[in-house]
Amino acid sequence: MLNAELLAILACPACEERPPLELRGEYLVCLQCRRAYPIRDDIPVLLVEEAIPLEQVEARMPNLPAEP
Ligand SMILES: [Zn+2]
Repeated sequence: MLNAELLAILACPACEERPPLELRGEYLVCLQCRRAYPIRDDIPVLLVEEAIPLEQVEARMPNLPAEP
């Protein structure tokens, strides 16, 4: 699991503003561009090419709280 310190310095590579990412299960999510970056072997893959749409992540994990 990622620690809070690491999470705090990570930012979305796709957004110029580099907004902070939110941890959702196995993904780091950017709520600004709604991309989800996978975490593989505890290493976040912050590559735009590897990102998947947030909607797809939420569809795979129905137990997570839905966005308003
Ligand atoms: Zn973003």
